[in-house]
Amino acid sequence: MFLFDVAGVILTWNAGVQHILGYTEEEWLGKHASIIFTNADNSQDICSAEMKNAAEKGSSSDVRWHVRKDGSELFGQGYMTALRNSAGEVTGYFKIFSDETKNKQLQDSLTESNAALEQFAYIASHDLQEPLRTMGTYAQILLRRYGAKLDSEAQRFLDHINKGAQRMSALVQDLLTYARVQTEVDRPSSDSLDQTFETALSLLKTAIDESEAVITHDPLPETERDQGQMVRLFQNLLGNAMKYRKPDVPPHIHVSAKQLDSEWVIAVEDNGIGFDSKYAREIFVPFKRLHSRDQYEGTGVGLAICRRIVENHKGRIWAESTIGEGSTFFFTLPASGKPPARHTDSVIEGF
Ligand code: ADP
Repeated sequence: MFLFDVAGVILTWNAGVQHILGYTEEEWLGKHASIIFTNADNSQDICSAEMKNAAEKGSSSDVRWHVRKDGSELFGQGYMTALRNSAGEVTGYFKIFSDETKNKQLQDSLTESNAALEQFAYIASHDLQEPLRTMGTYAQILLRRYGAKLDSEAQRFLDHINKGAQRMSALVQDLLTYARVQTEVDRPSSDSLDQTFETALSLLKTAIDESEAVITHDPLPETERDQGQMVRLFQNLLGNAMKYRKPDVPPHIHVSAKQLDSEWVIAVEDNGIGFDSKYAREIFVPFKRLHSRDQYEGTGVGLAICRRIVENHKGRIWAESTIGEGSTFFFTLPASGKPPARHTDSVIEGF
């Protein structure tokens, strides 16, 4: 902690300053505050701007690399407030300075590992997909050309090889998406969520037609978000709502949107088979499935992708369900945009 007079001269500090920066009181007391910015050429300007901001707005913050007395680097976060007398005049400044080097290094190494993950995903998509395609294709050729000469057991084995290759290809593709979602950020779009939703529906047209799904939705808000990721989020949640339907009951799915304080809560509610609510958290973990592959195709990565997308948008995702009655998947988005314009439900039916 530092205390400066109105001209920015260091009046006093606590022992933490010496501990963090390595300079003794004698070395710095009575000097100008700009001395704190040890490695900046324009330290006077930074300091003037900091004090001006603190005086005008009440406080100001500064995050940057500094150099300690011993020459080592330190990532410091400074927070300055203006001190005033009873007449409201600025009489000095108070600054809290913290060493954030470990956090910064952690953040940087996460960025690096994200880049490594993306590269891995890219290689995986190309190098793993290729031999899988070869396996699948040759199993099909074998079946087509020599199928008649093979007995039914051999045909079944070839079919297993083909299906295995297809399944692994789907897994690799989903893992690739899961890895990519983490690294592709900062592509905000301001289209309304309604438009995003319509795009997801058009991509799901076949499933909607086949299952005879009736999908209704409240007007959806405008929020800052990554368009591609939001389409995928709706696609996964609506896709599941149709996939996990009751055998003889067409899916009825409703998407609602409510603003609660500073966030939107979007809910995707279905009338499907539901699941035991004790697994409501686990289903968002990659590869976690509650229903067998014989009954319902899938890789178990879809909801993990949804979670990453929502968390990328500073939201939360969770689910509620009752076996035999249906499930509701909720997610939140920060309410930075405009409220929905229309107030009528729209209905999309597929037959
Ligand atoms: P996948 O559908 O490929 O198995 P997901 O990650 O999308 O993977 O879902 C994980 C599991 O959560 C599913 O296997 C299923 O058991 C359960 N689940 C997801 N959505 C629903 C739903 N709408 N109704 C019932 N169960 C669901």
